[in-house]
Amino acid sequence: MKALIIDGYVDEPACLGVPPYFSPYPRYIAGALRERGLFETDIHYLTIDRLRENPPGAGELIGKADLVIVIAGTTVPGKYLRATPISPGEIETIFRTAHGLKVIGGPIRLGFSGEGGKAAKGLGSRISLEGAVLAEMDLEAFVFDLFEDFGGSKGKQPGSKLKAPESVEHRFRTGTEIGRWAPLGAFLIRQHPDYPYCMCELETYRGCGRNIHCSFCTEPFYGASDYRPVEDVVFEVSALYSHGARYFRIGRQPDLLSYQGTDTGGPVPKPDPSVIERLYRGIRNAAPELSVLHLDNANPITISTYPEEATQIIKTILKYHTPGDVAAFGMESADPKVIRANSLKASPEEVFEAIKLVNSLGASRGANGLPELLPGLNFVHGLMGETKNTFQLNYDFLQQVLDSGLLLRRINIRQVMAFPGTPMYGKDEAAGKHKKLFLKYKDQVRKNIDLPMLRRVVPEGTVLKEVMCEVHEKGITFGRQLGSYPLLVGIPTSLPLRKFTDLTVTGHGMRSITGIPHPLPINSASPALLRELPGLGKKASDSVAAGLPYADEEDFVRRVKEGEKFLKYIEF
Ligand code: SF4
Repeated sequence: MKALIIDGYVDEPACLGVPPYFSPYPRYIAGALRERGLFETDIHYLTIDRLRENPPGAGELIGKADLVIVIAGTTVPGKYLRATPISPGEIETIFRTAHGLKVIGGPIRLGFSGEGGKAAKGLGSRISLEGAVLAEMDLEAFVFDLFEDFGGSKGKQPGSKLKAPESVEHRFRTGTEIGRWAPLGAFLIRQHPDYPYCMCELETYRGCGRNIHCSFCTEPFYGASDYRPVEDVVFEVSALYSHGARYFRIGRQPDLLSYQGTDTGGPVPKPDPSVIERLYRGIRNAAPELSVLHLDNANPITISTYPEEATQIIKTILKYHTPGDVAAFGMESADPKVIRANSLKASPEEVFEAIKLVNSLGASRGANGLPELLPGLNFVHGLMGETKNTFQLNYDFLQQVLDSGLLLRRINIRQVMAFPGTPMYGKDEAAGKHKKLFLKYKDQVRKNIDLPMLRRVVPEGTVLKEVMCEVHEKGITFGRQLGSYPLLVGIPTSLPLRKFTDLTVTGHGMRSITGIPHPLPINSASPALLRELPGLGKKASDSVAAGLPYADEEDFVRRVKEGEKFLKYIEF
């Protein structure tokens, strides 16, 4: 029995699985297969990008696997540096080639759309499944139930004991099941093409803890918050760590602060700081040499409603995490009419308070060059009740944050993708109507808010540690630190890929920065790199280049005007 898991990538409001991120989906499925008796060597994993490279044996594997499982679905699609989610055509090709049982699932079960601003359609209307079965609820549970249960089959090969898929009930997995499958499937990280440099997305819970839900959101389809026990998350980290994982993000939940919170009848659960302390301490004990521990979503209304508990939790995060962390706030809109019409979470005043609180505790610069913990903001356009004035109100809010001297790590602006079953479905006409306005507004935010904000977050001369070089394009190497919402850095030279390098920040774009290796080996640096030295300029860089080589610091300072100020960026 051979199973092949093809990762077409997921991007959901509360789960990312686009490389370097490694989502829980394939890990849970691998764990379910292990529990059904498959050996690790019979469980194969390919990302869609790896498959596109047509590695030796991949075609044969697809053709011969007894079970081919495709994970797919980007319900909040973004732009990705070196990864492209699976396309409908590719799904069809894979299923045409596969001869075993074919299953597809993940967020794609909710529908498919190519871009924001366009409604998602049911799978059947966009993709021919070529005889594959769509797991209508949890893919991992469906895969597990496909096997005949012959009584605790651990360690035994179930042979051909696959059931007819029609006889398998579609269901959600239980917390107990993933408590077992997550550690069992941890071995799969060794098959990830980015291994060991992949970020393991960790789940603490899914489902929304609010009693009313935002009109556009797909998270409520998972039901009420289904909290995992702290011990289970820690045990999973321990298993991943034993297989070489060093990069973690607690990202699979809509609001980390509400994890195991108490329902007091208020708008959101009351946070329990002791739970977050146990979680973070447990992870640190289980993975003492981890390189990154970040988080993703936090609900601003939780912070503004429970500032004391939130303060304690943020202090805990700062004690155990690694710097460069981001708490992404789903603000969605600053327009009170849109907030009301779509049952959004928080008012602009409440979001502002939450931004202030996170800044007051987390804005100091950490060892990797980035502030310790900053808020990020997510906006959604095209929601019900949106008018031209909505754009002005959102812009004014961002301007207020900028003018207050506060820091935001990122501002994510997207157009709504309406999914069947959400209140938004069929009511997203504003997205099309305001498309032009949306693009113009987005451009203004990038130029007038993002750019000055980025200069504030990483001023020229900041040294960023351990930037992973990922892509070459037109003589530029693009890289990012491994972390939550990493900054894109362009380096005007060709550096070896899949290697870390320290960089000095030398320039700012609207959403990316320019950097040069730190320290810069002055005697061998190219003119393009020399020109980037902070404060040097083109003319002076020509004269520095003309004076090459320099024997040492003394020689450099003697021969270069104001040479002392460059010494911190260079080496000889
Ligand atoms: S608060 Fe809104 S956006 Fe967040 S999970 Fe709940 S419904 Fe979704």
